[in-house]
Amino acid sequence: MKNKIWLSSPHMGGEELKYIQEAFDTNWVAPLGPNVTNFEDDLKKYLNRDSNIAALSSGTAALHIALILSGVKKEDEVICQSMTFSASANPIVYQGALPVFLDSEQDTWNMCPMHLEAAIEDRISKGKKPKAIIVVDLYGMPAKMDEISSIAKRYKITLIEDAAEALGSSYKGRKCGTFGDFGILSFNGNKIITTSGGGALVCKTKEMKEKAIFLATQARDEAPHYQHSQIGYNYRMSNVLAGIGRGQMEVLDEYVKLRRANNSFYKEIFKNVEGVTVFEEPNKDYFSNHWLSCARVDKEVAGFSSEDLRLVLLNNNIESRPLWKPMHLQPVFKNAPYYGNKVAEELFNCGLCLPSGSNLSTEDKKRIESVIKNFI
Ligand SMILES: *Cc1c(COP(=O)(O)O)cnc(C)c1O
Repeated sequence: MKNKIWLSSPHMGGEELKYIQEAFDTNWVAPLGPNVTNFEDDLKKYLNRDSNIAALSSGTAALHIALILSGVKKEDEVICQSMTFSASANPIVYQGALPVFLDSEQDTWNMCPMHLEAAIEDRISKGKKPKAIIVVDLYGMPAKMDEISSIAKRYKITLIEDAAEALGSSYKGRKCGTFGDFGILSFNGNKIITTSGGGALVCKTKEMKEKAIFLATQARDEAPHYQHSQIGYNYRMSNVLAGIGRGQMEVLDEYVKLRRANNSFYKEIFKNVEGVTVFEEPNKDYFSNHWLSCARVDKEVAGFSSEDLRLVLLNNNIESRPLWKPMHLQPVFKNAPYYGNKVAEELFNCGLCLPSGSNLSTEDKKRIESVIKNFI
């Protein structure tokens, strides 16, 4: 059997070990230290100089802290895009709050601004104004940020941008992760850059960043002994892992180019195949890192389904995966309110994520192309 081609696997740039070595040489083998500070600075420079970054142990931890800092408490409601990975929604439940799920729209596959406004109005009429909105930049595609932020502002609801999949993407020239009151990033092993496990919270002010770090390091009051007036968490990024992050930041732009080239590669393969559309930006305002390249397969037109395509790839040791199963269809969230139609559900039924690593070799691509072309 030929070697396995993964959907998205870690891709080291080359300098990571140098920074890890520094951590060892200076004995900063701790959840703080110069690699953490430098990695945060690298991210700040990359996103924009007004952002304030707290490096944390995961994207999920960053979302949890964002919700705490947004004042989300027991029995509050939080609006969340339904079409996403479960980590976008789980932290709402960690807080004892209730997720309210929203459908996507066709252009970006992200939160539909029309349903957002309708949902807010309806929740208010039922007696509760939502405390926060979690919008996701799915597969690297920026959401309709102008519309969504203006609705959030108008209703004075905190906006959290889950840009876990969208580091390197931008909307109207502004980097994803910087749109909300808070942004979150993930450096899990499958993301565009990785620290093997890690995440970051993007804050608007230095004060917010300091609050985030306080909560992420067990909420210790200032005292020589251990004193606590608040519940804390152990969510800080390790200085060893931040070393990997520093190395990865040096190659981020190159990886964005490579992932975008994968997208063009799939567009070329499917360009004359009726019923298959490769997901791309709706217009020039949107710049996606194309973390994952995805395709929609219209079974009636194409004569095969996305699942048929997935199985053919699997038989050739090539990994692909259906799109995220919407949260409102997940057994664990079956009682959560949902606003929308069936856009997310239809995407789930006909969509497929294709191998998208920045480390796909020319040979890998030839293999993928020939398997797909033979099948078609
Ligand atoms: C990966 C991911 C997360 C969670 O990040 P972790 O670092 O794995 O905790 C959150 N939201 C989305 C959309 C993701 O893809």
